[in-house]
Amino acid sequence: AQKKRAPSTVGVFSDQLEKQIHRELLLKDGLSQAIDKHQLSLVYQPIIDANDCQVVSFEALLRWRLNDEMIPPDEFISIAEQYGLIRRIGQWVLEQACQTASTWAQRHTIAICVNVSVAQLEDDDFVEIVSTALQNSQLAPELLHIEMTESVFTSDIGLLAEQIKALQDIGVKVSIDDFGTGYSSLSIMQDLAVNVVKIDRSFVQRIDTNGYAIITAVMHMARALNYSVVAEGIETQKQMQILRSLGVDYLQGYYFAKPLAIEQVEQLISSEQAPKLSAES
Ligand code: C2E
Ligand code: MG
Ligand code: MG
Ligand code: MG
Repeated sequence: AQKKRAPSTVGVFSDQLEKQIHRELLLKDGLSQAIDKHQLSLVYQPIIDANDCQVVSFEALLRWRLNDEMIPPDEFISIAEQYGLIRRIGQWVLEQACQTASTWAQRHTIAICVNVSVAQLEDDDFVEIVSTALQNSQLAPELLHIEMTESVFTSDIGLLAEQIKALQDIGVKVSIDDFGTGYSSLSIMQDLAVNVVKIDRSFVQRIDTNGYAIITAVMHMARALNYSVVAEGIETQKQMQILRSLGVDYLQGYYFAKPLAIEQVEQLISSEQAPKLSAES
């Protein structure tokens, strides 16, 4: 006997699929105009020195307001990548971040960390785009850190190594973001000479269990290979204390500060003294 099909299930599925495709196309169209319509902005999350809680840098995080909706970067970045929009958007982010950071640098030595996608890094012109952003803003290259995610390692490792070297040659620092979440963390350590490793939030969250051993191992490797280590996604005092005891160099997370609007950053760094964030609250 023939099996009965379940057309209603198929119907629901294609309904959902259709909705998803519709949303994707809507976002793609919106995104292609987002710069011209001034819908993009950056917020800045502090990164502090684990020893003295001084703010050493800010990570620029992209925000997109479409009509009255804030679309999260985890949703729109991948769409920008898929539809070839990330280069232009990424260039906008770089220009904007460098301009802003150069005004901060007039008072304090604070770096800016900028996230970049694989497609940007693989672009032949990427180093040129970075140089231009530095020139336009007069930001010292040492104050720019490029954060790339591990997913980049599904791509041509030789090309990436060259690009990283070229960035370092002009004085820019390079970080591996979300370290430990990709599939080839150890070969990254082996093949690429980056400056900074950012331990992914998921390990910090699980520091009471397996996270502890994993972070310990990362610390050993990072020390041996001469990388600085940032832990991201710190939300509790306990997490901070453990990470400090493990010798993590820099800390970032809601426990210290959420991503801030530019006015809030200016307030934080307005004093002549180097800005600090309390580790007590
Ligand atoms: P990421 O670079 O790993 O950034 C960290 C994310 O975790 C940010 O989310 C940040 O707001 C959030 N976060 C920070 N501290 C905490 C914490 O203590 N707890 C929790 N739960 N979350 C925390 P956001 O801003 O939504 O960005 C998500 C991702 O989107 C980023 O992850 C980055 O991969 C990507 N992204 C953001 N801006 C850009 C950009 O300008 N270009 C590119 N290519 N990607 C970007
Ligand atoms: Mg990042
Ligand atoms: Mg990260
Ligand atoms: Mg991420």
